[in-house]
Amino acid sequence: MLNTQSLRKRLTDPIEAFQSLGETINTPHGPLVFQDNGAKVLAVAHLDSIGTTRPRLKKGIVRCTQLDDRLGAWVLLDILPKMGIHCDILLTDSEESGQSTAKYFTDTDRYNWIFEFDRAGTDVVLYEYKTDQLCELLEGYGFQIGYGSFSDICFLDPEVSAINFGVGYHRQHTRHCYARLRDTEAMVNRFAQFYSDQKDERLEHTPSYTRISDCDELCNKDELYNKHKWEYHAGNYGYTDIDKFREEWSEYQNSLV
Ligand SMILES: [Zn+2]
Repeated sequence: MLNTQSLRKRLTDPIEAFQSLGETINTPHGPLVFQDNGAKVLAVAHLDSIGTTRPRLKKGIVRCTQLDDRLGAWVLLDILPKMGIHCDILLTDSEESGQSTAKYFTDTDRYNWIFEFDRAGTDVVLYEYKTDQLCELLEGYGFQIGYGSFSDICFLDPEVSAINFGVGYHRQHTRHCYARLRDTEAMVNRFAQFYSDQKDERLEHTPSYTRISDCDELCNKDELYNKHKWEYHAGNYGYTDIDKFREEWSEYQNSLV
């Protein structure tokens, strides 16, 4: 069983409390905390959430709105290190408003691959990193590949693959958010096997759009970033009119709050 001693603290600590865990970059969309452990694999979690509720833990089930994605932060900070898995860690803000501060992290190419635990249930999503080869690799460890819209890893533009693992929460973005810790534990254990075999393998990825970091330093990074990402997501959803997509997407985001 997972030791839940530190879980309540990770769920309720203000974002500022995480800043002592690494170097903080302050961005227009909130802080980005980077913990450098000299690792070859980068782990990501977002600290913001939609609303807050008091955590309740009973019989292996935890109920709390902040599980998305403080449960992921807890796995990275408190569970994996105890299992001997020491990654570099990136903790972001503003993911839920589509402005993840992950986009201010540009030093991605020194990693072999990138991952996060910010997914409902127990499947795995790959977004623009999806290839037959990566799916087969993950399926070989018993992971099921699902489909997701976006998360922090979509805000990076690495030359390596990034993977979002299910962490066991359900009904995210509502007051009824809960997680079965048995599911969290099963995903962590499966991940540990994957990590132990693959940590030294570079999982290459070809960015599918102009690399943000390759563009002229003088251009507005936010604006450029948004242009690339909107085009990418609009295409993914079959939209040809970017403005229409943008409008419908923000309506959808607002309906979740
Ligand atoms: Zn999330």
